[in-house]
Amino acid sequence: MSGKLIIFSAPSGAGKSTLVHHVLGCEFNLEFSVSATSRAPRGTERHGVDYYFLSPEEFRQKIDNQEFIEYEEVYHNFYYGTLRTEIERITSKGKNIVFDMDVAGGLNIKKQYSDKALALFVAPPSIDILHQRLVNRKTDSPEMIAKRVAKADFEMTFAPKFDLVIVNDDLEKAKKEAENAICEFLSK
Ligand code: 5GP
Repeated sequence: MSGKLIIFSAPSGAGKSTLVHHVLGCEFNLEFSVSATSRAPRGTERHGVDYYFLSPEEFRQKIDNQEFIEYEEVYHNFYYGTLRTEIERITSKGKNIVFDMDVAGGLNIKKQYSDKALALFVAPPSIDILHQRLVNRKTDSPEMIAKRVAKADFEMTFAPKFDLVIVNDDLEKAKKEAENAICEFLSK
């Protein structure tokens, strides 16, 4: 089966990226949707692989040109969005698409694609554990961590709107749950 959409949404630090990488390595004919963002690259992130890194002006221009299927100002002045060309790039190869996006973006795509999309919510075991994970990750400033934690609290309230909630308290169990859900969805 091709042309289906699998969305992973979560408060950041919930372990969503690990699960995304895991399922991309499974035999599901999946490809990662590279989002555009106006934030700067972190660590080893590369343009065109992790994100399309755009200046705020370039991002705004693409909004004006209606080039996004969805976009959000995920953090104040930091925009993230999915370009229409990205969907075409992947579906034209006959593949299914995996999205890593914030909760609002995930629900937006689910609404647009309905049964063609599987919306998975990855929940941290608790907000305290999420805070600790972000500190351990050492990729964000204390201010950014505070912003992410505050947002996470709010995002948790949207979990019931997703097709499935995967609580990431045991990574191996969470990987299996994601695999099973995707396998079932793609076979429908
Ligand atoms: P980070 O800065 O940690 O890479 O990402 C911050 C948040 O933006 C994460 O929750 C991530 O899933 C989300 N995000 C990444 N790409 C997109 C996108 O295309 N659309 C939306 N709405 N959110 C995205």
